[in-house]
Amino acid sequence: LEEKLYNLEIRNPRKCSEVPSLNYLKKKRILVTGGAGFVGSHLVDALMLQGHEVIVVDNFFTGQRKNVEQWIGHKNFELIRHDIVHPLFVEVDQIYHLACPASPPHYMHNPVKTVKTNILGTINMLGLARRVNATFLLASTSEVYGDPDEHPQSETYWGHVNPIGPRACYDEGKRAAETLTYAYANREKVNVRVARIFNTYGPRMHMNDGRVVSNFTVQALQDQDLTVYGSGNQTRSFLYVSDLISGLIALMESCYTAPINIGNPTEYTLNDFAVIIKQLIGGKSQIVHVEEAEDDPQRRKPDITRANQYLKWEPSVSLHEGLQKTIEYFKEEVNLFNLQISK
Ligand code: NAD
Ligand code: UDP
Repeated sequence: LEEKLYNLEIRNPRKCSEVPSLNYLKKKRILVTGGAGFVGSHLVDALMLQGHEVIVVDNFFTGQRKNVEQWIGHKNFELIRHDIVHPLFVEVDQIYHLACPASPPHYMHNPVKTVKTNILGTINMLGLARRVNATFLLASTSEVYGDPDEHPQSETYWGHVNPIGPRACYDEGKRAAETLTYAYANREKVNVRVARIFNTYGPRMHMNDGRVVSNFTVQALQDQDLTVYGSGNQTRSFLYVSDLISGLIALMESCYTAPINIGNPTEYTLNDFAVIIKQLIGGKSQIVHVEEAEDDPQRRKPDITRANQYLKWEPSVSLHEGLQKTIEYFKEEVNLFNLQISK
């Protein structure tokens, strides 16, 4: 267990005091909401490997027990099935607040629930942070910028979001979660961090979660057509999950309280991305164009100057390397799926 699962590296986060601090090495009790999900489970791995006590709270809407089962029975680990729209009472030093479905089909499945998770859930977790004096980190999103008319997107940009469109439950939910976070920081003196996360991919993404990396990879592995929505000229920038985890931990351990973009600034059109996946996997799939998604942001690329300056953070895993690892993971998932349906 001492062996590092991932090439996780904390790049000397800037500390609040002038005196260099080793605070992040001290053993802490840490709550991860949404810890059985894709990002959450990788964060749990990293925190457990650092020797912390970790409590995962998850309602398993999109998360899976198998993502964290490697830690079940470990003395430092606790898994609680709980929906964060209801209050929770635990004693912790830090809260990584990730609970919220992240893929468009999942968050659109029940928009009212998505809004409740973002608003009631965030109020509950901020209330907990205030009561126990824990540092609170919100997993926010590039979606707060909506379909941006500023490019690349820096943290000072206020965004361009349709408040009544199909993505609004998520975009406006996260914007409200940010508002709540700073209201608690200003009024209640909660110590907060806000990470605006850009498209992240890697092992443990849900095979059917509808996001582009899982869709294209699973389609290519099954010799099905790769479905590009709309013209394919829209762009995204893809961050490998281990880079996101090092960024989140660096942010939590820093004293930086304003929102901060965590993403990979290398931008691809969806047409180019489909070709890359097809080249890596091979097979008989064709690239086809289907109906465009409503309100689909047309360009997305983070300006990561802040993360660079204040966290000394930048992505280190290339798209090629990250996709190879992701493809290996999905190969196993597809085999498992085929085995199950052949029974
Ligand atoms: P995910 O869907 O895999 O994980 C979300 C987790 O939250 C799941 O385990 C789910 O069961 C849990 N959850 C949802 N609603 C809950 C509730 N009401 N109570 C308790 N648990 C609940 O998604 P992810 O990709 O791991 O995203 C994690 C966080 O990061 C989310 O907040 C998301 O908005 C943010 N984020 C992710 C990305 C990305 O590209 N992956 C980009 C931007 C922001
Ligand atoms: N997309 C696509 N085909 C798919 C799934 C998604 O072309 O099978 C496109 C989608 O329209 C968007 C981009 O890929 O432009 C990223 O979509 P995803 O759902 O992964 O994340 P988003 O950034 O939209 O939240």
